Amino acid sequence: MSALQVSWPPGTECVAKYNFQGSTELDLSFCKGDLLTIIGVTKDPNWYKAKNSVGREGMIPANYVQKREGVKSGGKLSLMPWFHGKITREQAERLLYPPETGLFLVRESTNYPGDYTLCVSCDGKVEHYRIIYHSGRLSIDEEEYFDNLMQLVEHYTKDADGLCTRLIKPKLMEGTVAAQDEFSRSGWAMNMKDLKLKHTIGKGEFGDVMVGEYRGTKVAVKCIKHDATAQAFLAEASVMTQMRHTNLVQLLGVIVEERGSLFIVTEYMAKGSLVDYLRSRGRTVLGGECLLKFSLDVCEAMEYLEANNFVHRDLAARNVLVSDDNIAKVSDFGLTKEASSTQDTAKLPVKWTSPEALREKKFSTKSDVWSYGVLLWEIYSFGRVPYPRIPLKEVVPRVEKGYKMEAPDGCPVVVYDLMKQCWTLDPAGRPSFRLLREKLQHIRAKDLQL
Ligand code: AMP
Repeated sequence: MSALQVSWPPGTECVAKYNFQGSTELDLSFCKGDLLTIIGVTKDPNWYKAKNSVGREGMIPANYVQKREGVKSGGKLSLMPWFHGKITREQAERLLYPPETGLFLVRESTNYPGDYTLCVSCDGKVEHYRIIYHSGRLSIDEEEYFDNLMQLVEHYTKDADGLCTRLIKPKLMEGTVAAQDEFSRSGWAMNMKDLKLKHTIGKGEFGDVMVGEYRGTKVAVKCIKHDATAQAFLAEASVMTQMRHTNLVQLLGVIVEERGSLFIVTEYMAKGSLVDYLRSRGRTVLGGECLLKFSLDVCEAMEYLEANNFVHRDLAARNVLVSDDNIAKVSDFGLTKEASSTQDTAKLPVKWTSPEALREKKFSTKSDVWSYGVLLWEIYSFGRVPYPRIPLKEVVPRVEKGYKMEAPDGCPVVVYDLMKQCWTLDPAGRPSFRLLREKLQHIRAKDLQL
């Protein structure tokens, strides 16, 4: 039985592997790289009914497309799966056995701390080349220098350039998965030649956010050029492959370059971050209906994360973006993890993080609910910084004693009540996002009746 006979349910997303020129009017033609959504099965398991990104429908051949899947192995993804850390010469030789010319790995040098060693199998023997680290650059022959190990490996993959052989096959570190392979396998790898980078629109902590164009669509691109930082962002990208909701900034694809740069391509959010949006328009432009709509948008995204057992950990108005048609979408999944994982508290934004998360690293959907309360306060105060006039170091002790921020000027009592419920000290006493969403919808329905 062919794999194609396991049928894809409607809603399955696919990426075209090849161009397809339909032969009848019922067919849906597409180009390599196009995104298609299955909308129905047919009697023939090799053909599906599908819709393209502009809503055109038709029949498509299943073997021309690849199903898009969530990348689940986020923590194991590596840009340098051939890097084995501190292992000895003997261990390296065992790992490169049985001999296969071109099989290689990189280890930390045991004799010269700070340097690395490239170990390559060649004609039944393992050669060990010292990679010296000199004023921030790496070299084997002291002629050719590289900024990082990835650039060095890329160079010797193309050409032996004095080594016994060119590097042909990486010996993968146990428990790691090559990031590029995993994004390709799951249908998320994009092609750099289809992406036009235009100009910078934002500076993230670790790299620039640029406006780009991907096959005619305006996109936002997070460009992470530094290899160590890129490694950290692989987890963010893999979390994003697992999520789909109108109120979450949608990942479109990922480009992993051999030289160590990472590009995370998402939908373009024309009106920028919610906090800037609120501050720049202010009370005179934004009415109550608009504030309630933003609150609901974010709540719906959080209800989705709650139902899927994801904890965002960094929910704040600066991490919500606004689309051209005024839809608020949650973004920045840098700290998002499955509910069970732990978190280093050093990087946490104190004013948004719940007391139990700050104190005991206890993150849960309920700690996201606390942050959501602060976000509601930000929305209704048009982007003010929370806990105004309280010095930062006094915030936590006061909050732990039960202090809660006052209602922002003009904030409806029913909304302020929700904020206070979110700031219940006992996490179990806080409402769920589902309940919050129901209450907000109720408030909206009543407002509309008035
Ligand atoms: P970040 O590093 O994600 O916090 O992004 C830094 C800034 O870049 C944000 O505050 C936004 O102004 C901008 N930005 C990030 N992602 C997008 C996007 N998808 N669309 C438009 N602007 C974005």
